[in-house]
Amino acid sequence: MDIWVRWNRQAKSCSYEGCGEVIAKNHPVVVGRLKRRGGGWIRTRQFWWHPGCWLIQAMEHLNSIPEEERIPKRGRKPVTLDPDERKARLALLRRHAYLTYRQRDYTRSGDLEKVLEIEIMKQELIPLIERTGPVPKRWVVG
Ligand SMILES: [Zn+2]
Repeated sequence: MDIWVRWNRQAKSCSYEGCGEVIAKNHPVVVGRLKRRGGGWIRTRQFWWHPGCWLIQAMEHLNSIPEEERIPKRGRKPVTLDPDERKARLALLRRHAYLTYRQRDYTRSGDLEKVLEIEIMKQELIPLIERTGPVPKRWVVG
């Protein structure tokens, strides 16, 4: 599912089952788009959430995963010794640390939309670092 945030262009009901309230026009909205492909057809489903509802739902989803299945253990690569990959890994670690630092600032000032935006950016780094070795424990929400 593709997820992004934007200002809501028209009033819509929140896709979170526990909410269902209207997301007002000009308020921040988290948009989700789910594409399913079959033989010769593509079906797209769209979702709209209040940023807070999206976060609640995301955490409900994460918490629904049994602890032992949260991080794949088998097939995990050891930290690479290839110089280019090591360099890439270090760059990713620095980027993640920088994002975490900025996110903390936004958390303090209560800018939920920015916090979310950065969370998405952080999530996107996970598949990248997986290519260079194990995902650092601190990177995993929970
Ligand atoms: Zn909602």
